[in-house]
Amino acid sequence: MTAQLIDGKSISASVRAEIQAETARFIETSQITPHLAAVLVGDDPASQVYVRNKERACARAGIRSTLHRLEEQTTQDELLSLIQQLNADASVHGILVQLPLPDHLDSTPILDAVLPSKDVDCFHPENVGLMLQGRPRFLPCTPHGVMRMLEHTGVATSGQHAVVIGRSDIVGKPMAAMLMQRGADATVTVCHSRTKDIQKIAATADILIAAVGIPEFVRGDFVKPGAVVIDVGINRVNDQLVGDVAFDEARERAAAITPVPGGVGPMTIAMLLQNTLTAARQAAKS
Ligand code: NAD
Repeated sequence: MTAQLIDGKSISASVRAEIQAETARFIETSQITPHLAAVLVGDDPASQVYVRNKERACARAGIRSTLHRLEEQTTQDELLSLIQQLNADASVHGILVQLPLPDHLDSTPILDAVLPSKDVDCFHPENVGLMLQGRPRFLPCTPHGVMRMLEHTGVATSGQHAVVIGRSDIVGKPMAAMLMQRGADATVTVCHSRTKDIQKIAATADILIAAVGIPEFVRGDFVKPGAVVIDVGINRVNDQLVGDVAFDEARERAAAITPVPGGVGPMTIAMLLQNTLTAARQAAKS
């Protein structure tokens, strides 16, 4: 069996076209242009690429974006004061702090300082709590992107066994929460660095989601024949982007699989645009 390719580029293009149309309608009726403020500290090359891609995607969707570049030596207080300034700026609807921050900065108080109503990454504890309770203000971008891809590909999650490898706050935990939420109704197993026999557990998954950060961690024998495989991983190996899944092995067993690049990554950006539009709509109502 050779798996169907789940093409994140084309799915995200259609999602972005919808967002572009909705943004144009919103601007016309409200006279408000949704505005994302991105904060980039230091000059990590990968972060610069991510931020540039997000800015481009905003421009294409008709969303205003402004980039606040801070030098590597920026202090915690300086960064906090920028966040407070952006919180107070009524023209800013979404705030994005590009991670990772330089080692000397503590990201938790920084992310906690973002006003929940502008927290378009859905990292603030208030927003995480609302999401967990099934009444989200925003949905976290990467897991939301995965859910949209599954939906778009016609993959039913209800009653299916989903195995998520990885338990980070950004991907693994919210991914598991969204899959088990009423409406998605999957039965979810979460594996992590202390899990025993991951290969055996993964091989029972109808839907296997890898968010580990280890190149090609998921081998062919992790994949149950006919499973859907979603590779969240983005790893740089010899200047190439490699996923957390050994793609050539997994595609021989899976029914459908996402590539890297061109899989989950573009969906994450589309969901960020969606959240920025949502934030602007909510601000217009308040
Ligand atoms: P992270 O390092 O915060 O978390 C990795 C998780 O993997 C941890 O929970 C850990 O328990 C688990 N893990 C580590 N080693 C393991 C092992 N040997 N066996 C089983 N589990 C193990 O990473 P993250 O932020 O969740 O990101 C995961 C991957 O997804 C990275 O490659 C990252 O670049 C990528 N990512 C992609 C997008 C996207 O838009 N496509 C967004 C965010 C992250």
